[in-house]
Amino acid sequence: MKVDVAVAGGGPAGAVAALGFARRGAAVVLFERSGYDGLRMGETLPPAVNPLLRALGVWDRFVAAGPVPSYQTASAWGGPEVAERSFVFSPHGHGWHTDRARFDRMLADAAAEAGADVRRGVAVRGVRRVPGGFVVDADTPVRAETVVDATGRPARIARSLGARRERLDRLVCVARVFAVPPGTPVGDTFLEAVPDGWWYASPLPEGRRLLARFADARFSAAAGLATGPGWSAALSATAKTRELAVGTPIGPLRVVSAASHSLAPASGPGWIAVGDAALAVDPLSSGGAAFALESGSRAAAEPGEAYRTFVRSAAAGYRAVRSEVYGWEARFAGNAFWRDRAADRGLEVS
Ligand SMILES: Cc1cc2nc3c(=O)[nH]c(=O)nc-3n(C[C@H](O)[C@H](O)[C@H](O)COP(=O)(O)OP(=O)(O)OC[C@H]3O[C@@H](n4cnc5c(N)ncnc54)[C@H](O)[C@@H]3O)c2cc1C
Repeated sequence: MKVDVAVAGGGPAGAVAALGFARRGAAVVLFERSGYDGLRMGETLPPAVNPLLRALGVWDRFVAAGPVPSYQTASAWGGPEVAERSFVFSPHGHGWHTDRARFDRMLADAAAEAGADVRRGVAVRGVRRVPGGFVVDADTPVRAETVVDATGRPARIARSLGARRERLDRLVCVARVFAVPPGTPVGDTFLEAVPDGWWYASPLPEGRRLLARFADARFSAAAGLATGPGWSAALSATAKTRELAVGTPIGPLRVVSAASHSLAPASGPGWIAVGDAALAVDPLSSGGAAFALESGSRAAAEPGEAYRTFVRSAAAGYRAVRSEVYGWEARFAGNAFWRDRAADRGLEVS
């Protein structure tokens, strides 16, 4: 089989890249290893996604999928008092809490309707450069002129083609979803800083709430945060978040990487990395999904130097904001978790 563009990964970045290339008339195949079943992390979308979703022509589908409006974020960050930040001054309106599996599936459906051959449940094992393009090793070998790495944080395809990942940290997230008792308000996003990391609470559609603990991987392992007793003990030690653990837990604890990195270069001869593969940001920023949508869309429009400049400048902006926001928490500045982030100390290139 021969195509113009093969996209590996059907998260928001890959689906939007496939949509963009298909709308430009390219023959596109999109490989997504999952069937979009099960919990996906990354549910809170800031107001900045609204113009992006409208420009992509998927606004009506998005609203039909039943996202919950988000009007503000509250946090105990930099002090014990809770401060609220409303979206009332945002030029794009309010944000959203989504069911991310539903959101990602909606974008893949839009790519399929635009003509992309969307193959669910098919993983890309690797790519090999051949004259005039690549052979993509998937369920059947596919020849493609252009390959898009949209596989998320690991960015294995781009790295196998020579790109290098500058890793900033080893943040991990250990999360649990609760079914909130009927009639109990689910509230809005809440953040609480603790000495070795932070907690995050977010409503989900259908009366659910996500509670997540973020910490460096080494601390998380030592404190047993990925175990039921360790996670619950850490939750009990919080000042505020523990009050939000109401209702019935749904499913086991979920442990996922939330580490930051940037890739250089973000595209090369015949290949482009989009979304988290190109720049993975701290979930604290709630900026990952917006970057995924924008990078996927730009990759299809301007894959060369303009795209690399866009990713470089997004990475520089992100690092400055990350260091500033972690620097606001002076109570725990003696702890490496806060100190390294405030100082924008990188880890390694791999
Ligand atoms: C704990 C956590 C919380 C977050 N919270 C938020 C938030 O509230 N708001 C926000 O905006 N962002 C948040 N983010 C970030 C956001 O989820 C990501 O930035 C966004 O999902 C990136 O989209 P993507 O398409 O690049 O990658 P992903 O969403 O990771 O998608 C990658 C896709 O590729 C598929 N895949 C991987 N390897 C292969 C392969 N070899 N072959 C085929 N398919 C493959 C995967 O199944 C997946 O569907 C959060 C991230 C984490 C870890």
